[in-house]
Amino acid sequence: MTNQPVECPHCERDLAQRFLIFAPAHLKQCRGCGLVYTSPRAESEQISRFFASHYILNAARLERELGSYRAESLRREAALLQRLKPSGRILDIGCAGGAFLDHLPAGVWEKHGVEPSSLAGEEASRRGVRVYRGLLSEAQIPRGVEFDAITCLDTLCLSMTPQADLQRMRELLRPDGVLLIDLPGYHYRLVRNLGPICWLINRRWTNFDHRSPHLFIFSAASLGKMLARAGMRIEQILPESAPARGSAALRALNRAWFSLGSALNRLSRGHLSVAPKVIYVCRRAN
Ligand SMILES: [Zn+2]
Repeated sequence: MTNQPVECPHCERDLAQRFLIFAPAHLKQCRGCGLVYTSPRAESEQISRFFASHYILNAARLERELGSYRAESLRREAALLQRLKPSGRILDIGCAGGAFLDHLPAGVWEKHGVEPSSLAGEEASRRGVRVYRGLLSEAQIPRGVEFDAITCLDTLCLSMTPQADLQRMRELLRPDGVLLIDLPGYHYRLVRNLGPICWLINRRWTNFDHRSPHLFIFSAASLGKMLARAGMRIEQILPESAPARGSAALRALNRAWFSLGSALNRLSRGHLSVAPKVIYVCRRAN
């Protein structure tokens, strides 16, 4: 695999500098906008092929890791969406086997999804989702089709072109539509995977691996800048829990951490976020 240095997708320039102490060399931070991303990385075609055929290798991963392990979060996210927008046409970007869309009532939602994996796409189709194959940049969504809701759950950090993707989402979103973006919590991800706490848990200083499909680590600030350039804004930031995998003790610890993170978030009126994952409720800026 040949690795190439990449530009910041927001600034469209290579302003990369080494990220924090303990961070591996492939993790960079843009001096222009603060975005953290991997550079150098594999070429686009290789990454595209990976998501089409290797990311979701079998039905077990589809069912467990992208379905049942995330069920609690998916249910909460579906309930949140129902409060914001009770019905309409929805597009789930990286819909996998349709696990999230399954939590929405079929009668009131017209369900569409974008999915690069054929294994996952076929499963979503069986569940009544209209699936557009490929990455968002490749998906053949008919001209004129707009959405009341777009969801991008755990997928924006995997995209090679997040700025262009957000611009495409803005085009596809109706003026009163809502966009939900679910991403790993910035502080949680750094503390868990870098430095002394990572060493205590894993006996190594970093868990960030240059082979990981996670290409971006978004903070609220760097995501906000990208959204603003795409003509959107963050309306609300909510804590979310980690997938329920691992031992019973680990799952209990994760639940406790999520409860603590939620309480801190409420007490600080949204300023303090240590949750494993974060949901950004976004709207068109105009
Ligand atoms: Zn930048």
